[in-house]
Amino acid sequence: MTHSFNLQGKVALVTGANTGLGQGIALALAEAGADIAAAGISAPTETEQKVRALGRRFVAIEADLSSLEPIDRVVRGTIDGLGGLDILVNNAGLIRRADAVDFTEKDWDDVMNVNIKGAFFMAQAAGRHMIANGYGKIINIASMLSFQGGIRVPSYTASKSGIAGITRLLANEWASKGININAIAPGYMATDNTAMLRADEKRSSEILGRIPAGRWGDPSDLGGAAVFLASRASDYVNGAVIPVDGGWLAR
Ligand code: NAD
Repeated sequence: MTHSFNLQGKVALVTGANTGLGQGIALALAEAGADIAAAGISAPTETEQKVRALGRRFVAIEADLSSLEPIDRVVRGTIDGLGGLDILVNNAGLIRRADAVDFTEKDWDDVMNVNIKGAFFMAQAAGRHMIANGYGKIINIASMLSFQGGIRVPSYTASKSGIAGITRLLANEWASKGININAIAPGYMATDNTAMLRADEKRSSEILGRIPAGRWGDPSDLGGAAVFLASRASDYVNGAVIPVDGGWLAR
C-alpha cells in the first residue's frame, strides 16, 4: 500500500514555500520523494537547505503572484529546471484584517489578486501542461473560512470561499483528464498568517478553547494530507476540501 504514497520521480511546484505552511508541505512532499520548485516573493533559503538535505532537487523561482505576469515563467521554470510538473500546491496567500465598515478597496484587491485570481490562473497554466500529460495533482490551500464567515477578514473569506468553489469546478472539468484537484483547509495554524491572532490574548484563548485537539496546528500537521492528495493514493478523490483542523469544524 505505501508505494501508492511514494512521490519518487515526481516534481512538485509549491507557491509561497519559503515559510509556514508552504514550507511544511514542501518538506513533506520531498520526504515522500518529490523534487521541489518553490515560487514566491521571498528567497526560500531555509526550505532549499532542508529539501536538499533530504536528497531531493530544488529550484527557486522568484515571482510576485499578485499579478499574472510571472505565471507562465514559473511553470516553464519548473519544467525546464526539474524536467516536469506533476503536482501544484497553490499555497501563497495573504490576509488583511479590518472591520467590514472600514475595509478598503486595496485590502480587498491585494488579497483577492493572490489568493483567488493568482491561484486560478496558476492552476490553469499548470493544468494545460498536466492535461497534455494526462496526469497531475493540484492542491489548493483553503481555510476554515471556506466553510465559515469569519470576522474582520472580508476579502480573505471571499477568497477562501472562492477557492473551495474553484476546486470543485476544476475537478468537474479535469477529473476525466487524469487530473485530481482538491483542497486542504487548514485550521488555526501557528504561522505568520495568525501572528496577530495569537498575540491577542482574548482571541487566542477563545480560539484555543474550541479546538478539540487543544493546540494550534503546526505546518508539519499538513504533511499527511498533502502527500495523500499529491500521490496515486488519491486517484479517485476529486473536488474534496479536506479539513486539517484539530477538530475545529466538528465543534
Ligand atoms: P505565511 O504568511 O507564513 O505564508 C504565506 C506565503 O505566501 C509566504 O511564503 C509569502 O511569501 C507568500 N506570498 C504572499 N504574497 C505573495 C505574493 N504576492 N507573491 C508570491 N508569494 C506570496 O502564512 P501561512 O499560514 O503559511 O499561509 C500559507 C497559506 O495557508 C495561505 O494561503 C493562507 O491563507 C493559508 N492558511 C493559513 C492558515 C493559518 O492558520 N496559518 C489557515 C488556513 C489557511
